[in-house]
Amino acid sequence: MRTLSIIRTLTLILTLAFPSVLHAQQADEQLILKHFHSISSEEISGWMTEICAPEFNGRLAGTPEYLASADWVAGKLKEWGIKPAGDNGSYFQWFDHPYTVVNDIGALRLHITHKDGSVIIKSYSAPEGYYPGMNSGNGEVTAEVVYVGYGVTAPELNYDDYKGIDVRGKIVMMNRDVPYKDVRNPEYAKWVRYCYHQYKVENAAAHGAAGMLYIDGNSANPNISYIENMIVCGIGPEPLADIFAGLGKENKSLIEQIDKSFKPASFATGKTMTIKASTTRHPEGRTCNVVGMIEGTDPLLKEEVIIIGGHLDAVGNAGGLLVDGGFDNASGVIDIMAAARALAESGIRMKRTVLFLLIGGEEVGLLGSKYYTRNPIFPKEKTVTYINLDMVGNGTGLGVSASANCEGLTGYFKTANDSYIHRPMRVSTSGGLFYGRPRSDGLVFLADGFRTMSIYTTDGVKPVYYHLPGDDETAVTPEIMEDVAKLIYLSFIELANADTLNY
Ligand SMILES: [Zn+2]
Repeated sequence: MRTLSIIRTLTLILTLAFPSVLHAQQADEQLILKHFHSISSEEISGWMTEICAPEFNGRLAGTPEYLASADWVAGKLKEWGIKPAGDNGSYFQWFDHPYTVVNDIGALRLHITHKDGSVIIKSYSAPEGYYPGMNSGNGEVTAEVVYVGYGVTAPELNYDDYKGIDVRGKIVMMNRDVPYKDVRNPEYAKWVRYCYHQYKVENAAAHGAAGMLYIDGNSANPNISYIENMIVCGIGPEPLADIFAGLGKENKSLIEQIDKSFKPASFATGKTMTIKASTTRHPEGRTCNVVGMIEGTDPLLKEEVIIIGGHLDAVGNAGGLLVDGGFDNASGVIDIMAAARALAESGIRMKRTVLFLLIGGEEVGLLGSKYYTRNPIFPKEKTVTYINLDMVGNGTGLGVSASANCEGLTGYFKTANDSYIHRPMRVSTSGGLFYGRPRSDGLVFLADGFRTMSIYTTDGVKPVYYHLPGDDETAVTPEIMEDVAKLIYLSFIELANADTLNY
């Protein structure tokens, strides 16, 4: 710890020269450590229970239950004396956010026709076999399933999964991503617009499909376009195997073949399925980021801001499949809250301003971070860095990474860990540019030209239920969350007070 070691050195010098200064310096160090020790896994566990409570119903952005969770966080910030930094003196930064409520789990059924013409119907269960489309249209479709590889039509790349295939009124089945896989190669930039889930649904609808099975894992995915008459669901391994059964093909080898040849492998499967979805669309939806700040104490340096953020929203409740979002991302939010409380309550002087940004609408397409970068509360040039926390609370180790233009800032975190926390810690720089589909709020800030960092945890010890009902308050390890919060707390005192920052 630079401040603490400087304090110690100064203390030594000053004790000899001016004994009366000794008490002031000791008091500073004692104050820092007192509030460092006030960060506890017990407090963190209590907040995990509160934020994963049934009344927040999985915090789907746009819903009243998400807003209730935003109110809960804002209430805590207020209690600790953290200033509102949102619209009109409030803690909230509002933006439009249409959303879809899934009323029940719907159905996925396969129609199996025997040689004698009789038909039996096989029903799958959720979430093992399928996951209801979180932005599906409302209704039911029964039709033949047509395999369309990646569901991409890219004439300028001489690639079309729909070429020579009639999908009108049919159910299309496709994979996520695109045949080109190297997201760090500028070549990927030509493909990026086709890798979005939103594009895939829209392209399927443009070709006249009535339904879509997305081979994207059987988990909740609100990050997909809503199209009124398109019935969508995510498909798990069992129905996928049943669709391919007896066809002498399988998805995995078809994908390998497409990736190698850049030639589509679409075909009509001859299998009939039913997808049923019960949803209600709310085009009028609005939601918010929650923003609070501790204003800097230095008349000049207070113009500079360090932002720490993480998404508050989760994937909600799909007709009884409730995902509390414990690990993803109550963990990040509560790490930030625990550090914020200690920083605010300690009253420790910080020359620069610190902004706490709890983001809404991440799961639906990074809407909250896009809104912030287009409407920044402090100018980009005055932003030291944006530090993202997403799923930071499972394991025994710590990690910090930084974009190449601020890799020096990782040193503040490393020193804090080495001096007072002593966890195994990975330090890295995210090398090169990224041309793929941004999948975190940090990448939105990076793409907009902000210096960015992220804090993460390593060596997970709990099973990860990504976008699945198991992701509740028990999916985290509060002990590592305590240390993440302590890491933020100590590093921020240094970052905020350094006369010049070592980027
Ligand atoms: Zn997340």
